[in-house]
Amino acid sequence: MSGAAGFVWDPRLASHVYREDHPLKPWRLRGVHDTLERLGAFAQPGARLLAPRDATRAEIERVHDPAYVDAIVQASARPGLDYSEWGLAKWGDTPPFQGMHEASLLTTGASLVAMEEVISGRVRVAFNGSGGLHHAMRRRASGFCIYNDPAIVCGILADRGMRVAYIDIDAHHGDGVQAAFYETDQVLTISLHETGRTLFPGTGFADERGAGKGAGYSINVALPPYTDDSAYVRAFDAAVPPLVERYRPDVLVTQQGIDTHFADPLTHLQLSTHARQHVVRWFGSTPYPWVAMGGGGYDLDAVRRTWSMEYLLMLGAPIPPELHDQHPPLLSGSNRTAVDSATDQAVREALAAAFS
Ligand SMILES: [Zn+2]
Repeated sequence: MSGAAGFVWDPRLASHVYREDHPLKPWRLRGVHDTLERLGAFAQPGARLLAPRDATRAEIERVHDPAYVDAIVQASARPGLDYSEWGLAKWGDTPPFQGMHEASLLTTGASLVAMEEVISGRVRVAFNGSGGLHHAMRRRASGFCIYNDPAIVCGILADRGMRVAYIDIDAHHGDGVQAAFYETDQVLTISLHETGRTLFPGTGFADERGAGKGAGYSINVALPPYTDDSAYVRAFDAAVPPLVERYRPDVLVTQQGIDTHFADPLTHLQLSTHARQHVVRWFGSTPYPWVAMGGGGYDLDAVRRTWSMEYLLMLGAPIPPELHDQHPPLLSGSNRTAVDSATDQAVREALAAAFS
């Protein structure tokens, strides 16, 4: 991999709190930043620390309804009121909290800075770990996500006439991004995730393939619980490179949630840093400009090690063994057979539903 790699950083991206007991802890990003700093990553020749900016109202409204944005502005100032019609609930997945609009403008703007640096050619790739909030819908907060920064980035790139390949490797289905581009062929969405039969948001089956001009341009690979590195790498290699090469995008946008990790408390996939190294190396091996975002990730040490490793891969720097899982889970016997056959089936269904 060659060319410079941006890392969007400001401690303010890691300072908001959804709720004290909430699993999404933005301060997890400090561990990534501090690990990379300790390893000397930001002193590498290609490293670029990028400062985020606030997204504008017009950028947010590329994807979200103005009335929804008004509701978030109000919830941000007065979080004690009832915003349930907008998907917010005090004890639910996505609570209203003081300052949520401002925090979300900054995380979204951080993804937009990553996009701008990549499209200008100043860097080959840029990573915003605070972004990747892929569940937010046009008029509804969902699954810890308020403004859908990956959809906003893809939409703005599509508006500039670019063909966008969006690849979502979070454990959860990238439902909000899929919904935003369900009827267009200008954004190809590919989501590899734990099946909706066992995990939120309950969608992401192969037959959700897009509609109208978008038919065949929403791709879903619904993986069984307990998918391990071996099955995942096989599924990824069979589905993603062929589809992306067939599509010939102008730009790659990736959502790199690491709640797929075997230590993650919220999901049932069993990936390690090794499968992720394989996948992120492939992203880097493509010829496309690449906008990279974070996403889920609720085991803080898995987040710290994996995203640190992934930024080092973007830099083309060596990976210290301390970042890798030493003993990743590996299925055997009848569990091996069952997971392999279910992942192969998921890939067959996804490819059969894809554009040709
Ligand atoms: Zn997730």
